[in-house]
Amino acid sequence: MAPESRHWINNEFVESDAKETITLHSPYDESVVGTVPVADEQVVDSAVAAARKAFETGPWPTFTAAQRAQCLLKFADLIQTKADEIAQIEAESIGQPVAFAKMIVGACVATYRYYAGWTDKVAGESYKEEDGTYRIVQYEPFGVCAGIAAWNATALYLGWKMAPALAAGNTFVFKSSEKAPFTPLIVAELYKEAGFPPGVVNFVSGGGSTGQLLSAHMDIDKISFTGSGITGRKVQDAAAKSNLKKVTLELGGKSPAVVFEDANIENAISQNSQMFLMNTSQVCAATSRVFVQKSIADKFIEALKGAFKGAEGAFQNPKEPTTMLGPLADKLQYDRVMSFIQSGKSESGAELLVGGDKIEGQKGFFVQPTIFLNPKEDAKIYREEIFGPVLNIKTFETEEEAIKLANDTAYGLASAVYTASVSRALRVASKIRAGTVGVNAVAFPSAITPFGGYKQSGYGRELGKAGIMAYLQEKTISINMAV
Ligand code: NDP
Repeated sequence: MAPESRHWINNEFVESDAKETITLHSPYDESVVGTVPVADEQVVDSAVAAARKAFETGPWPTFTAAQRAQCLLKFADLIQTKADEIAQIEAESIGQPVAFAKMIVGACVATYRYYAGWTDKVAGESYKEEDGTYRIVQYEPFGVCAGIAAWNATALYLGWKMAPALAAGNTFVFKSSEKAPFTPLIVAELYKEAGFPPGVVNFVSGGGSTGQLLSAHMDIDKISFTGSGITGRKVQDAAAKSNLKKVTLELGGKSPAVVFEDANIENAISQNSQMFLMNTSQVCAATSRVFVQKSIADKFIEALKGAFKGAEGAFQNPKEPTTMLGPLADKLQYDRVMSFIQSGKSESGAELLVGGDKIEGQKGFFVQPTIFLNPKEDAKIYREEIFGPVLNIKTFETEEEAIKLANDTAYGLASAVYTASVSRALRVASKIRAGTVGVNAVAFPSAITPFGGYKQSGYGRELGKAGIMAYLQEKTISINMAV
């Protein structure tokens, strides 16, 4: 049966006479997964109008914090029951292994539960009367919010963007990537079942043109974007040129991992191989530049090479429950990664240690896990985000040199430090210019702590208390005590 493909507006699936449609093919066997309509201006306008009406006059603004929490908790329970269905469709659409896709659903559930707890925790402030005036600060939802997501973890973005926005009392219009449009439509009816009134949650499908319509819309108050820096700039530009809607940008990275000579090598190897290759390294926080101290470099590099070679067998049919690694998301992504590998071979000055080709004997867009040693400082593979299983390694001698290398990037999303010394870990962590630092492990985002980028990895934060504050604005009320 073809997956549900209609837009979800006002708690109903709506037919649209779309002039344009998008057909998805499996990156594993190129079979047709389904077709979605592209939301045009009329569809986007009607989704935004539904969200506006729900925010202004629907029952939603009268919901107590406890009622909003109840909706979020119920939805968390309900989406869990769809984990298998979601995992299947993500495996078909972007080649994400079902086991990994279910973990993503689990993270989405955790995010809804976490933000259910926040609905009644954001207090305001009051100031002692001064000069005859009593002052109160209260936090209010923006109104209509929108989310535009990357394709690598759609269920995660349903959590990271929508759970805090809804907990804060906003209404929402969400656009997933054209590469992964089905998960929101699988769960759409669950929002209704969980008690969210009509218009509070709306899903539109489409590509860049739909994203552009949302970014430029005059009646959206805030937009949260996850994707590449190039598109993020377009979103910000459209927001500035339209109604100056508030913008949160979660962009890409070229994150460093620094391995010191006193590190637990076995752990550093598994974090920089198994964990790095997770989701076929299509992970914004992947630590794709590894710096290893010279004294242990030979041993570390030999072992990492072995781990990358050994991982090749783990790339299998993403629909099999035991599969750990899948193909790249589609032909475009495959061509992009292969062109980086080509440039690594021909113009980076680096030594290709392992990989560097497609995986033979497998249908689908599979690429060998690849390591380049000592690329030139201005090499494309060293500077630009690849979003695929390609790692760069360089060596260093001193801590200062390691920090300099780690920070020598336009990005600042994530990082990792491997060492047995707590003081060194803290010293280095405080000097790395990135939104997260993992010590002896990659920093896996958690619902309870903020996630987001320094420098060109974006601004604003999702998750944690910062995640809900990003969907609230301060209002000062001053009271003339003389009257
Ligand atoms: P893109 O920037 O290509 O697309 C992101 C989203 O923007 C998609 O929904 C896309 O639609 C939409 N879009 C495209 N053009 C426009 C436009 N002109 N205006 C508004 N929206 C538009 O990124 P990818 O989807 O390829 O995702 C990979 C990128 O996302 C990487 O750089 C990665 O690092 C980053 N990322 C960041 C994360 C973070 O939390 N910091 C997490 C995960 C990924 P469509 O796809 O349908 O064309």
